[in-house]
Amino acid sequence: MSERSEPAGVPGSGLVKGLAVTLKTMTKRSTTQQYPDVAPDLPPRSRGVIALLAENCTVCMLCSRECPDWCIYIDSHKEEVAVPGAARPRQRNVLDRFDIDFSLCMYCGICIEVCPFDALYWSPEFEYAEYDIKDLLHDKDHLGEWMATVPPPPAHDPNGEPAKEETAAARKAAVPAAAAARPTTPAVRPDSRPAARPATPAAVPPPADAEQSTRPEPAGGSEPATGADGTGDGAAGEGTTR
Ligand code: SF4
Ligand code: SF4
Repeated sequence: MSERSEPAGVPGSGLVKGLAVTLKTMTKRSTTQQYPDVAPDLPPRSRGVIALLAENCTVCMLCSRECPDWCIYIDSHKEEVAVPGAARPRQRNVLDRFDIDFSLCMYCGICIEVCPFDALYWSPEFEYAEYDIKDLLHDKDHLGEWMATVPPPPAHDPNGEPAKEETAAARKAAVPAAAAARPTTPAVRPDSRPAARPATPAAVPPPADAEQSTRPEPAGGSEPATGADGTGDGAAGEGTTR
């Protein structure tokens, strides 16, 4: 076993160094917070608890499917709504149950990110510890109560891009204005072509030599006699149907 070599130095220097660190720390301002006597000063967007705005929830189930811990439980039923003027009543989902089990939740925020209808929000509230773990299952009403603690969204950045909704609304408003400024198009376009083409003659007169194309009628009124070899003579053979 090899002996560990000590760095050469003044004896007792290690002790002095340690005491120097202690003295330095003693003079620093303490960062310990005296919770629960003093409430901590948390950033406004802290991830304390998830709040639900049930009116916005369409029961699309995206949050429940994307939750890595499978700790969101949703139940719903369909309801028919009569719409004036519509041929048939419409169907809509009615939220019956929306529970989040905070004993399983790992506060990743995926459910809030994927919700397409802004029904879930982070609240900085964190004081919901329970003596019984089963009480960490917050139901729809309990999650709705947290909405009162959700801070308002940050102010709009004047140098930032406008929201997509604002851009779409501005584009939509600009279309009728552009249409009104455009000169009106005549109902009937002037057509350079003649109104109607000359009618096709009902019967095309046959060409002058059409008579020649027909089979010449022999003077005797009977078919030319075929030769003994079956070929016949040349002039008569051209008008024969093969
Ligand atoms: S924060 Fe994450 S773990 Fe918690 S409920 Fe949402 S998706 Fe699930
Ligand atoms: S993603 Fe949003 S709208 Fe869809 S079920 Fe979850 S909370 Fe409701």
